[in-house]
Amino acid sequence: MEKKSKEGALRILICDDDPADRKLVRAYLQRGEDSEFIVQEAGRKEEIQNALDKGGIDIVLMDILMPEKSGMEWLTEIVENRIAPVIVLTGAGSEEMAVQSLHEGAVDYIPKSRLTKEKLLGAIELARERWKRIIAEEKLKEYTKELERANRDLEDFTSTVSHSLKAPLRSIQAFNTLLMEDYADVLDETGRGYLEKVKGAAGRMNALIEDLLTLSRVGRKFIEVETVDLNELLEEIKTDLSARIEERGGEVVAGKLPTVSTQRVWMKELLTNLIDNGLKYNKSNKPRVEISCEERKKDYLFRVKDNGIGIEEKYQANIFNLFERLHPHSEYEGTGAGLAICKKIVEELGGTIGVESKTGEGSMFFFTIPKNNK
Ligand code: ADP
Repeated sequence: MEKKSKEGALRILICDDDPADRKLVRAYLQRGEDSEFIVQEAGRKEEIQNALDKGGIDIVLMDILMPEKSGMEWLTEIVENRIAPVIVLTGAGSEEMAVQSLHEGAVDYIPKSRLTKEKLLGAIELARERWKRIIAEEKLKEYTKELERANRDLEDFTSTVSHSLKAPLRSIQAFNTLLMEDYADVLDETGRGYLEKVKGAAGRMNALIEDLLTLSRVGRKFIEVETVDLNELLEEIKTDLSARIEERGGEVVAGKLPTVSTQRVWMKELLTNLIDNGLKYNKSNKPRVEISCEERKKDYLFRVKDNGIGIEEKYQANIFNLFERLHPHSEYEGTGAGLAICKKIVEELGGTIGVESKTGEGSMFFFTIPKNNK
C-alpha cells in the first residue's frame, strides 16, 4: 500500500451506531507505528452529516444497518454527490443488502464477522483505485461532451458562414454575367479574358462553399437510418456518373453487395466520391473501378479499387484532410474536400477509412460500416 506522510494521510470516516464496532475498526486502522490514516468516528445521523459537510473525507466505512437513516440511503447520497468511495460493513443476515449495496455504488463490502486489518487495508486500497477510475472516467465523459459541443459549434459556424458567403457570391456571378453579356463589345480581348477568370474563380468558390456545407451537414443533420440495397444504390450512382464513365470509356463493376441499415444519402455520397475519384485520377485506356464487400463478424468491409495513377505512400494519410490535393493546378478538377467528407461520413457511421496504393498501380480505398448501425 502506498505510504502517506502524516499531512497527506488518508482521512477515513467510520459510520456505525455501535461504539464497540467503531472502536474495533479504529483499532485495526491504527495498529502499528506508522498508521497512514486519520480516523474519524460518527454514530448518529447529525454526526455523519456534519463530518460529510465538513469535507476532506477520503474513504467512508459505512455500517449498512443504521437506525435513523439507513446505510443504503447514506451510500446513495455519498456516491451520487461524489463525496468519497464507500466500503460497506455488514452484520449477520445482511448479505443480500451487501450485494445490493454494490449495485448502489459501494466499492466493496466486508462482513463484520470477518473483519481483519488485512481485509480492511485491502478494501481501502481497492476503494481508492476504483474511485480514481470512476472520477477519471467521468472526467473523460465530460471532456468528450465538451468536445462534441465544440465540434457542433464549429459545424454551426461553418454552416452559417458558408450560407452567408453564398449571397454575395451570387451577386458577383450575376453581375459578372451581365458584364459578359452586355459589355463584351466595350472591352478588349484582355478585359474579356479577365471576366472569364472571374467566372472561373467564382465557380470554384461556389464549389468550395457547397463542399463546406456538405461537410458541416454530415453528423449535424439528423437523417433516418434506412434499409438500403447497395446493389440498387450502385446502379443509381452509375447513372449519376454516366457522363464521366462514358467520357473516359470506363467501367464500374461490383460483385453482389449486401443490404444494410444506414443513412442512404451519406452512403451514396461516400461511394459516389470514391468511385468518381477512381475514374478521375486515372490515365488508363479503360479506367475501371471495382467495388466489393466482405461481410465480417461485426462489420462490413468495403473496397473500392481502381487502376488509376495511384498515390505516393507519403501522401496517403494527408489526402483525407480538408482541401488537400496532390495535383492542385493540374488537369484534374476538384476542391480537395471529397475524401474529407468521406472520412467524416464513415466516422459518423462508426467505421474507419483508409487507402492502400502504389504510384502507377492504382489505389484501393477501404472502409468499414458496423452492422449494428441504429
Ligand atoms: P478532389 O478530388 O476534389 O481533389 P478528394 O478529397 O476527393 O478531392 O481527393 C484528394 C486528393 O487525393 C486528390 O486531389 C487526389 O490527388 C488524391 N486522390 C483521391 N482519390 C484518388 C485516387 N483514386 N487515385 C489517385 N489519387 C487520388
